[in-house]
Formats: sequence, C-alpha cells, structure tokens
Amino acid sequence: MKRSEIEFDSRNIWHPYSPIHRITSSIPVISASGSKIKLTNGNYLIDGMSSWWSTIHGYNHPNLNKSIKNQLRKMSHVMFGGITHASAISLCKKLIEITSSRLECVFLADSGSVSVEIALKMAVQYWQSKRKKNKKKFISLQYGYHGDTLGAMSVCDPKNSMHNLYKGYLPKNFFVKAPYCNFHQDRNQEHIDSLEKLLIKNSHHVCAMIVEPIVQGAGGMRFYHPNYLKNVRKLCNQYKILLIMDEIATGFGRTGKLFAYEHSEVLPDILCIGKALTGGYLTLAAVMTTREIASTISRGESGCLMHGPTFMANPLACEVSKASIDLLLRSSWKRKVKNIERQLFKELNSLKNNFLVQDVRVLGAIGVVEMKKEINLRILQKKFLDLGVWIRPFKKIIYLIPPYIIKKNELTKLTNAVKEVISDMKKLTVIHSI
Ligand SMILES: *Cc1c(COP(=O)(O)O)cnc(C)c1O
Repeated sequence: MKRSEIEFDSRNIWHPYSPIHRITSSIPVISASGSKIKLTNGNYLIDGMSSWWSTIHGYNHPNLNKSIKNQLRKMSHVMFGGITHASAISLCKKLIEITSSRLECVFLADSGSVSVEIALKMAVQYWQSKRKKNKKKFISLQYGYHGDTLGAMSVCDPKNSMHNLYKGYLPKNFFVKAPYCNFHQDRNQEHIDSLEKLLIKNSHHVCAMIVEPIVQGAGGMRFYHPNYLKNVRKLCNQYKILLIMDEIATGFGRTGKLFAYEHSEVLPDILCIGKALTGGYLTLAAVMTTREIASTISRGESGCLMHGPTFMANPLACEVSKASIDLLLRSSWKRKVKNIERQLFKELNSLKNNFLVQDVRVLGAIGVVEMKKEINLRILQKKFLDLGVWIRPFKKIIYLIPPYIIKKNELTKLTNAVKEVISDMKKLTVIHSI
C-alpha cells in the first residue's frame, strides 16, 4: 500500500475508539484465510481475535463464500416491508430451532447495537400495551456492555462507556453490582439480595433487566456462575419484569454451549444475537421473543413494533448466516471448543504466578489474562506484530478468542506471544493508555 494511502487513513478516516488524526497508523491488511491475516508487506499474523468474536470458522471459508455467490445471482437485496423471501424464512426457522421453541418470533436487525435498541423498545412497548405506562426503566449490571448506540449505551457500565460525556441526553437507568468474576464458585447471594432490594422499591418503574449471560465481554471479560443467572430469572418472574439476554458475543458455541444461557438452564424473554451469526461475513443481528410479548406489542396503541431498518433481512446476510450455522452444527464444534479451552488453560495458567498478573481465566474458546495495571496498547501492539500475531488488549485485559478452526501450533504461537510480552513487561514502564 502506498504511503500516501496510509497517511490518508490516519488523517481522514475514523477507526473504532480512535482519534481522527492518529500518530500510529493502522496495519494494512490485504487478505485473510483460515486463521491467518495477510499484510501488504507479505507477512502473516495468526488471528487471536476472530475479528471481535465473529469469524468462528476462520476467514475466506469456501462454504460461506459459496452461499453469498449463489444468492448474489438471485438478488443481493430487496426491501422487507410488504415483501418476504426464502432466505429470511429459512434462517428464522433455524434460529428458533437452535434456541428455543418458546422464542418463536424473530426480528432481524442490522447490527448488535441496533438489536439491543430493538430489545429495549420491545420491553417498553410491551408494558405500554399492557397499560403499565410507568414501566420505562431498565436494570443492568456494572461492567455490562451492550453496544454503542444511545439506548444501548444507557445500559452499559456508566464508567466504561463514559456516561458523563452524554449527561442530559442519555436516559437514566438502574445499575446493580456485577456478580463475582468466578464461573466455578457461586458467591453471589449478597448480589441477589441487593437486586431484590432494588426491585422491591422500584419494580413498578422497571420494564426489564438486561444482562450478558455468563460472560461479560467488552466490560472486562468477566465470567460468572450460572446460578446468578438462574436467580436473576426467578426475581424477574417474581417482580414482573422482562429479562433480556444479550448473547451477541457469547452465542454460537463460544463458551462451550451453543448459547451461554444454556449453562444456567433458564431462558430469556427477549434474546439478542449477532457477531458470529454470519460467521463474520456481513453485519446481521436478530432479536427473538415469545409469542405473548410479540402479540401484546402488536395489540398495543401503535399496532406494531416501531422499527424497520432499510436493510432488514438482507438476503446475502441471511444466506451466509444459514451456511455458517449449518457448518457449525455439522462440525464437531463442541470438541473443538473443548480442545481450545484445555490448551488455553494448559498454556496460560502458569502466568498466575507472575507478579504482574492479577488473574488468568479460561471458558470455552476464551482465554483471559488480567494484569494488575493498565496496559500500554501502543507498545504491546508493536510487540505482538513483531511476534506474528494479532492480539488487541484493552485496559488491563490481554485476551484470546481464536476462530474454532485454529490449529494447535497456531494457538501455541498466540499463547507464547502473550507469555513473551508479559515477561518483557518487567522491563517496560507500564503507563496508562486508552
Ligand atoms: C459487540 C457487542 C454488541 C454490539 O454489537 P455491534 O454489532 O458492534 O453493534 C452488543 N452487545 C454485546 C454483548 C457485544 O459484545
């Protein structure tokens, strides 16, 4: 890539959570295949990020490519208002099949954040339709992350998503302390008690609680005990509020179950899925809910759910989602994720003894090394590139979420890079960074 193009990118194009005129330029990528990302300078990086939880089958998969090419010959898009197509119908059937027959009504959205907006709107409209017009607030968890649009942000951790920046514009919701970060031990009684206290006082104002089941992702890569979710379900029933589960990061096998809520054996009233839904090919998300909720909304004042994206149910995205789900179900994904889990644990766990490390935790195909201090992203990013891996830490967290098709030696390359970077850190001054 020409130098002038790189300069244009740094000067004129926004990247996620980055200033517009960046000192460090983005890394130019030319292609990607399997678990390898090829750079314009001819080097390869082993991918430890699955492009933010999405490319579970790796890049450039022949089945997924084919599904899009086939659909392209028929039509790339057609509006979904007043029109329907087989791509949407068969995808939605499949989604109901692999989740629960209780979640039988599907709304297709164009991104994860938008699906959260839709879930929140469903909850508000549901209670409106039941003439409980005061129920308009949400409860969510400290360290929660649900997306970057304004409604979604209003239920994200207030500190992490900088609520003070948007004060006066963001709706105010209730936050409760996050459950303990421990998948194996249930020490959450006090958290459940304080949630109940909040509900006793405020449930008449609350339409729903929203949680990421079992794994709190972008808010800190925290894993919690399945009983917590079970108890949340009970309280939501008891105090008559809906439970929204945001499975956008955890869905499609990442935690060792097809959906993370399966660890707790309870169901949400409203479910959001996205990210790995299309195997990382195109942007698509879905909101699934019960017949009772969907019909109640449809009987309400507006007569419908007030939402309709231009690219709703895009056929290319639907087809590649179907192909990705088929590929997942036909593969031995459970064994693959289990093997990744074992290997991550075996190769990362010794870091617990390092004095710079706070915690090491592994669940499914997610490996997390939490440092005691914030990481200097700029220094680490360069080190990781030199080591031939794509790993992008944030705050105190260095984590791996590889594609399920990663080879054993490729995963070792990732864990070795993490170990090497941490052993080098002793020599570096660790300073605060974004
Ligand atoms: C990524 C993510 C979102 C937002 O999805 P986008 O497609 O980036 O809008 C919402 N919730 C969770 C749990 C996520 O991990």
